[in-house]
Parts: sequence; structure tokens; C-alpha cells
Amino acid sequence: MPAKRIDGKAIAQEVRARVKTEVEKLGPSDRPGLAAVLVGENPASKIYVRNKRKACEEVGIYSEEHHLPEETTEAEVLSLVERLNQDPKIHGILVQLPLPKQINERKVLDTVIPEKDVDGFHYINVGKLVANEKGFVPCTPLGIIELLLASKVEIAGAHAVVVGRSNIVGKPAALLLLHHHATVTICHSKTKNLPEVCRQADILIAAIGKPQFVKKEMVKEGAVVIDVGINRLPDGRIVGDVDFDPVQERAGAITPVPGGVGPMTIAMLLLNTLQSAKWKKEKA
Ligand code: NDP
Repeated sequence: MPAKRIDGKAIAQEVRARVKTEVEKLGPSDRPGLAAVLVGENPASKIYVRNKRKACEEVGIYSEEHHLPEETTEAEVLSLVERLNQDPKIHGILVQLPLPKQINERKVLDTVIPEKDVDGFHYINVGKLVANEKGFVPCTPLGIIELLLASKVEIAGAHAVVVGRSNIVGKPAALLLLHHHATVTICHSKTKNLPEVCRQADILIAAIGKPQFVKKEMVKEGAVVIDVGINRLPDGRIVGDVDFDPVQERAGAITPVPGGVGPMTIAMLLLNTLQSAKWKKEKA
């Protein structure tokens, strides 16, 4: 029997509806605001920023976009971020990566004050995630957990195998799964016997960046497979890191690409921005 398809688009839509209701409840004086900083002309980044703006508009979050030219200096970006840090309309600051090479990304990310770091990239928020304390968590891993919870997947006690150890997806996803009481294995390019390790997974997270890398033989019968990958094939098709058709014959549940994790990332950004506005209100 083919796997149950986890519909990220529908789950993300539910999250957005929830955010919209909460934004309305907050009222105009506490309306959440998100600022996006984009440096240069990376086409994918421009699309992401446009989609984020549209999503904000749909749920009533104020949004502004700061599009700076490719040759912008680090000092100019830092000064913009510092201005946004002080701006009371803004509750979330998103610096679209990658930045041009003359700009030190880590320095920029750590200049965003942790209270407005809705991407969860500041070292303080990274530390809070490790310590399982209240803070901002990167949106894609947060979206993965939301997908699992919304699909009523039992995380506690499950063996979760995360393939990929990046700071924005693999590592934070592994930590969140651990905080939800999974037994977690993290794999990477130096892992030995990867197929064998993957076959032990009740929950398999693929965050590799290699098209259709996870084959049917790497998946246990009935496993929940979450495909984070977004890869463009030479023929223009977008596929995930999982070889979807064969794997869905063996998995118990699976996310498609597109329409799985992708829509959740933006939904979680909206949720984090709302959360930031609520925390600010609580503190006032
Ligand atoms: P990175 O390139 O930063 O990390 C990839 C990870 O995969 C690394 O840890 C790497 O190991 C590991 N890896 C690479 N090759 C192998 C291999 N042969 N066997 C085992 N592990 C391997 O990618 P990201 O984490 O940023 O992104 C992963 C994927 O998710 C990409 O396709 C990206 O486009 C997508 N993505 C999707 C998002 C969404 O919204 N849906 C958001 C962000 C990313 P090592 O550390 O040893 O090099």
C-alpha cells in the first residue's frame, strides 16, 4: 500500500489561518512586523523574499523589504540591521542568505538582536535551542516538527535518523526531535553504512541537497519519511532528496516535494514573527 502523503501545503495553510486570527486579536497597536534584508540579485533569494512578503500580507503581518545592491559594504548592512533593531514596528528581522562575499554573514546574523531573530540563527538562540529553553528556532526544522505533530506521528521513543548536519536544517532538526524524546542519530557524508543506519529509522529526515538520494532500500517498512531537499534536475523539474515513487511504496507516510516541508518554512516564519510580537507585548 502506498504511503500516506503528508500534505505540507494544507498543514501550512492551517498554521497561516491560526496566525491570521491571532494577529487580528493583537490589534493594530501590536501588529507584528517583519523586515527582510536582501543584498544583491540572487534570483532564488528574490523569489523567497517576494513569497515571504505575500505571506505576511495574507495574514495581516506588516512587512518591509530592504533590497540593497550587490556592492553594499558590511558596514552598510550592519547599520541597516541596527536601525531595524531599534524600530518598534519591526518584530522580526530576516537577513536573506547567502550574502555577497565582502560581507561576513556570522557578524550580520549576530547583529540582529536575539528578540528579533525570527530565523533563529543568532548564537544566543542557537544556545537556547541546545538548552531546550524558550527562544527562536530555525523555521525549516520547526516546520518539520509541526508536520509530524499535525500528522499525529508518535515522536517520543521513536528512532529518528537525520541525514544532514547543517546549522539551518539537520542539527536543529535533530535537537528538536531529541527534545520531543526521540532517540536521534545524525548522519553526514562521512557516515559509514548509511543505508543500514537509515533502515533503522522510524522517522527518516533527508536534508542532504542531493536529488533522489534516499532509495527504497534505505527505508524501513512503514517509516515516516520527511524530505527537506529542494533540487532542480537538468530537465527543470524540482525534486527532493528522496526517490519518491519507489520509497512511497515502502514508507508509512511521506512528504512530497514540492508541497511538503517547503510551505511549512514560510508558515513558521510567520508564526515566529507573531511570537516575537506577543513576547514583546508580554514584556511591556
Ligand atoms: P547543506 O549542504 O548545508 O548540508 C547538507 C548535509 O548533507 C551535510 O551535512 C552533508 O554532510 C550531508 N551530505 C551530503 N552528501 C551526503 C552523503 N552522500 N551522505 C550523507 N550525507 C551527505 O544543505 P542544507 O542543510 O542547507 O539543505 C539541505 C537540503 O534542504 C537542500 O536540498 C536545500 O535546498 C533544502 N532546504 C530546503 C528548505 C525548505 O524550506 N524546504 C530550507 C533549507 C534547505 P557533511 O556535513 O559531511 O558535508
